[in-house]
Formats: sequence, structure tokens, C-alpha cells
Amino acid sequence: MSNHFFIQTLGCAKNTADSDGIGAVLERAGFQGVETPEDADVMIVNTCGFLQASREESLEAMRALGQIKQPDQLLIAAGCLISRYGENVKRQVPKVDGVIDAGKWIAMPRFIRYLREHGNHDGNWLDEAFLGLPREQLHARSVIEHFPRHAHGPSAFLKIADGCDRPCTFCIIPAIKGTHRSKPMEDVIAEARELVAQGVQEIVLVAQDTTAYGWDWNQRDVLATLMERLCSEVEGLRWLRLMYAYPGHVTPRLIETMARYPQIVHYLDIPLQHADAQVLQRMKRPNLVTTRRMLEDLRAAMLDLALRTTFIVGFPGETEDEFDALLEFIEEQEFDRVGVFEYSREEGTPAATMQPQVSRQVRARRRHEAMVLQQKISLNKNRALVGRTLDVLVEGVGELAPNAQHTRNARRDPELECGNCVSIGRSYRDAPEVDGVVIVQNELPVGKFARVKIAQASEYDLLGEPL
Ligand code: SF4
Repeated sequence: MSNHFFIQTLGCAKNTADSDGIGAVLERAGFQGVETPEDADVMIVNTCGFLQASREESLEAMRALGQIKQPDQLLIAAGCLISRYGENVKRQVPKVDGVIDAGKWIAMPRFIRYLREHGNHDGNWLDEAFLGLPREQLHARSVIEHFPRHAHGPSAFLKIADGCDRPCTFCIIPAIKGTHRSKPMEDVIAEARELVAQGVQEIVLVAQDTTAYGWDWNQRDVLATLMERLCSEVEGLRWLRLMYAYPGHVTPRLIETMARYPQIVHYLDIPLQHADAQVLQRMKRPNLVTTRRMLEDLRAAMLDLALRTTFIVGFPGETEDEFDALLEFIEEQEFDRVGVFEYSREEGTPAATMQPQVSRQVRARRRHEAMVLQQKISLNKNRALVGRTLDVLVEGVGELAPNAQHTRNARRDPELECGNCVSIGRSYRDAPEVDGVVIVQNELPVGKFARVKIAQASEYDLLGEPL
């Protein structure tokens, strides 16, 4: 019986980090990763269960693998969708042999052996004896356990904690992931060293709430200490990026640390969710006064700070006036990057029972209005960078389609002379997978930094020449 595995990851950066963990525990157990499902003996879908749209995407991914599945292959569903719906998922996708929830992936090798010996099963109800650890310890270990990480390019997500203690009324994550648990600092630093030793230039810190790092140890400001230690103890680390900060937890010490260390990029992802006082109250989110002061302090400490945030439109009871207050705030604050999501009614959350629920049409119209407003702001901000020189982390090369204004997916035709070759990279203002890119003339070494003079700008991307 050969042991080749293939992992398809859906959802957020934290799931990407979990998939790396699943890969690591399987390799440690003698399995080998493969790039395509056809070559695998075990196909694993690491699902997302956060919103309706992401659940449908996860089910679609499982169905697609189910269609190509051969009799000697196993199809396993893991992740947040399983934490929420367990074996019900198998009723929707009968080709799935086994399901195991987000907090138990550490037992994946045992689970595969079990499925091979006993046929399809629901890992969720496997007893502690089988799992070899009490359930809560298992969950904790999936966070704190240290695995040798493999780099998959010049940038890597590093999950520093899991779970969340916040009371946001629209969010199902605490019910899926449990309470906040931080990864021991020595393990985070060891993992960062391993990744940088393999050529990783950028470490992106992720968690549900990165700014609560160490709170479960009854300590405060531990995130600042962690970031200082990563900068001073991980040789060769060029960029350290912080995502998923919680507005009420950004402290003066953290801001001072971000401003002091050159490795820490002047970028912060901080979901705010709304900007109307009443809506924030119904969401149980930090109030606007706290948020405004924090944004002022951040911008005063880092003049070139790039801010990313996300907003939810169509939250139950959201009136036109409350929505207008959000638009005014977006216009006033001029964030660099904004994601706008339609409210998704999530069973089991307090907001799901709030009235009135806003209609799908109104939610869609409001999302469109907010995105159109932000596109203008983003274009102006990008245009202000024309003529500036930025460090760009090159992540790929390709060819610009003829007369393309700009294209993300530059193709590479090996036959073609490098007439129209471009490189695709990111500046400090761009987080992986969610923000824009910088398209640079010519083919540059992948995985390295290049000095780039910005020549053109679009709503989300920049075009430049290497210096
Ligand atoms: S802080 Fe984020 S993950 Fe935690 S409950 Fe709120 S929205 Fe959910």
C-alpha cells in the first residue's frame, strides 16, 4: 500500500497553516505529498465552514474529487465544515470515506490506518483511546504541537494561536474553534527559523485574533515581545507581517514595536466590520471612539502605513442611515485595502435571531456601493505611488498578454522570446492571497527582492520597472 497524499485547502490563511501541519504529521508518519489528486492514495479536503458561500465551495471541492475517486483511493474531509456539521457532510457527499474536525488533524495518520482497516467512518466520534489523547488535549495539541514546516515559496503563514474569546454576534468561529489558545513562543520562533532557513523571506503572522497572543497565559502585550524576538533572533527574516488584529487589542507597545523594527512591514490587517455606533453595539464590536484613536496612533507612528480592513454590510436591522455612516467612514479614513462582505445568517449565532434581517437584494446593493467607493480610493492611493521606488518580493514570472493593460495571470510560453516577460510580486502594501500585486517588466529572480520604480497604477495593482 503506497502512501501518497494530496491536500486541497479552502478558506483562510489559518487553514493554509493547518494544511501544512497535516502535511507535516503525514510526512512524519512516512507518507509523501503529491501535487495532483490522481497520483494520491489519500485525498484530503481541508474545508471552510465560516459562511454559506465558503461551505458551498467546500462541498463542491469534495464532489469534484468524489467524481474522480478510484476504488483504491480514500477521500477525507477535514476542517471547519466538519467541526460544524460532522458526518452530515457525508450524506451530502457520499463518496467521502471519513470526516475529521478542525481540531483533530494531528491524528490524521491513525485515522487513515483506521479507515483502511475498517472502511468508511466518522472520525469525530472516535474514542480517546483510539485518538490516543483526551479530546481537549487533542485540540490543544493541534495548536501547540511543533512540526517541521516545509516552505512553499518565499512567503509563509505562521499560525500563532487558534480559537477566539470575542463575543461578535455574527461569528460562528468560537463555536467551531473553541477558546483562544496561543502557541508557545519558543515553537513559533523555531518554526520561523525553519522556514527562513529554507529561503522564506516573509513570515505572515495569523490567528483568529493575533493581538490576543499570550492572553491565555494571563499576560498582555506578548505579541509585541514575540515580534521583537522574531526580528532579533531569526536571522535572514526580511519581512514580518501582522494580520487579523482585533481593534480593541492594538496597544501603544505593539505600535511602537511595529514602528521600530525594519523587518516589520508598515502594514496592518485589522477587520473593523462596521462604523456605525448602533451597529457596532449590536455586533458586540469595539466602539468607534476606540477605533479612531487607534487608527490615529498607528498612522502617527508609521506615516507610510498601509491599512487593510473588512466590513460587513446588511447586518440585521442595518438602516440606510447606518449604512451611510459606514460609507462616510470609508471615505474619511481612506484605507488602502478593504474587503466588503454581505452579512451571512449563521445558525447558532446571536445575530441569526435578530430582526429585521436585511434582504439579499439590499445586502448586494450595499456591498456594490461600498466596493465602488473603495475602488476610487484605492486607485487614488495607487496613483500616488507612481514615481516611487518600492521593494518588491518577486513570487512568479510570466508573460503579459498582448495589449493587456495589466494582467495578474501572466502566462509563460517557453517557446517565446522573453519579449513581453514580466515578474509578479508584492510590495509591503500587499498581503499574500488577499491584496494587489506589482507587475514588473522583465524576468526577475523568483523568491528575491527587487527595487522597482512604479510607472503605472490601477485600482488594485501597480506596474513598474526594475532599477
Ligand atoms: S474576533 Fe473574529 S474570529 Fe473572533 S468572534 Fe470576532 S469575528 Fe469571530
